[in-house]
Amino acid sequence: MVATAMKPSDIPRNPDCTGCGGSTDGHYSYTFNSKTEEVSEILCRECDAKKQKEAYQRTHVLTSKLMTLATFYQCDFPQRFDPYYEQALREITDLMEALGKKIEGFGWTYRNTMNDGHTSRIGHHTVTALSALGLVNRSIAEAMRHGGRLYAEGRDPVLEEVHESLDRLHHLMKVWEREVWFGGLHEIVRNAKLKGHGASMPGGDVLSWACAGRVVFTLRDPAGYYISFITAEDEDTNRMGIQGILAKEGLARQLILTSIAEWRAGRLNFDENPNIGII
Ligand SMILES: [Zn+2]
Repeated sequence: MVATAMKPSDIPRNPDCTGCGGSTDGHYSYTFNSKTEEVSEILCRECDAKKQKEAYQRTHVLTSKLMTLATFYQCDFPQRFDPYYEQALREITDLMEALGKKIEGFGWTYRNTMNDGHTSRIGHHTVTALSALGLVNRSIAEAMRHGGRLYAEGRDPVLEEVHESLDRLHHLMKVWEREVWFGGLHEIVRNAKLKGHGASMPGGDVLSWACAGRVVFTLRDPAGYYISFITAEDEDTNRMGIQGILAKEGLARQLILTSIAEWRAGRLNFDENPNIGII
């Protein structure tokens, strides 16, 4: 860690990486202390991936970032995504010009961590307006390109292990989708006035929040470790996917299995809760 004596709002548009000293090329992650707001590091995509993988090797905690890395690593990148990437860059460039370059910060910023009293928060701080305009997202295109580079560099046992863990969790999540969501929770959510629901279970709770046609579920333990799913509110197709994770595979598995068992036993009772939302 390198002390920068800088606050998040002071980070320049294209800062240097405090890990390797190289250019971040405008795509970086930063860590800051939520009390002092002091930025402790700014990492380029490569250094951040390295840090994520090293942390995983120490802790075996799966994170949303690792999930993204592992997913794009497994993609057949050059054939499928290079045209997409080029298109994304063209569209973003055109939009920037059309708007007089008023939109800034396409970076995929990320606020970490569980440690040292820092804020635990993952944010895809990409410009929401771009999605609203139906444009592809440059951050995602960049992440795909990065995944392709990792793949091209040879086998990555860490990302392969992460991918296998997530694959196992994905199959359990599909059981949850069938048993809990299509087993009655979808009716509760669709018919509710309030869009936030919560239910407690042994070893944690389940939160549900619906917005803009999507529903996000978070299964979490008291320490704040979680796995979250996302699906479409009004569709009957099996579209549920893993939205995010901060947990070891074993804990995520336990949260999924416990909530399914509690639901089957009629003990997972969802109450409307106006305090549930998305940070
Ligand atoms: Zn770097």
